Amino acid sequence: MKIFKNFFKKIVQIFFPSVCLYCQKIISYDGLFCKECFLKIKFISPIKCKICSLPFAKQKNFGKHLICLNCLTKKPFFDETYVLYVYNYIIGQAILDLKFKDKTFIAYKIANFLKINFYQVIKDNDYIVSVPMHYKKLRLRKFNHANLIARNIDPKKYFANLLIRKKNSVSQLGLKRGKRQKNLRKTFEVNHRYLNNIKNKKILLVDDVMTTSTTANFCAKALKKAGARKVTVLLFAKTLDKSYRYIKAYNIE
Ligand SMILES: [Zn+2]
Ligand SMILES: [Zn+2]
Repeated sequence: MKIFKNFFKKIVQIFFPSVCLYCQKIISYDGLFCKECFLKIKFISPIKCKICSLPFAKQKNFGKHLICLNCLTKKPFFDETYVLYVYNYIIGQAILDLKFKDKTFIAYKIANFLKINFYQVIKDNDYIVSVPMHYKKLRLRKFNHANLIARNIDPKKYFANLLIRKKNSVSQLGLKRGKRQKNLRKTFEVNHRYLNNIKNKKILLVDDVMTTSTTANFCAKALKKAGARKVTVLLFAKTLDKSYRYIKAYNIE
């Protein structure tokens, strides 16, 4: 049966070869990008803030309890963040293709990469949720891409409709920090039907890309308010502006 499956896969690959999502070059393996484009993608450094995953450029020592100044002065509602890649134009192309060109296979592949790289984190959590989309937006887009990624990481742990988006807030892109906060206030809430299900549970909040942590923080706030014990954020990529190089690490051990 397995031989047959592999044979079928090979036939599919011959007739429908994968192409690099960025440069369109044909690739012979099951990935999103060709080798040249993949070399331009960076992993988030393992020397990073325990809470928000901001890498520390100047810190030389590994430490499980390093924290950035932002998280030290105003602790977010989420407890930990895990990120695979640093966001760049190549990653951006994959996300655009997923969101606006209906290439849903990208969500399955992203879910698979996250599953392989963060196996233990996924295992340690009770439920998986994603950043919800307002139903009006969902009607326009047809699917919620973050939802598709989260569901495919582990369908058994995926908790559909646990988090709901009450307001159809405007896009966070281009808004200044204060406006971002105001834009998302009272936007997320835990579905009242499931309030008893998440008391004391560990929740994994999945999203594709994090620009600022505002959205994740409001989602985590709603989950904590409803009784979740721990909220961990899991991302495919995180944007880093140049200022991150100057942020100091504090050891809170
Ligand atoms: Zn390429
Ligand atoms: Zn931090």
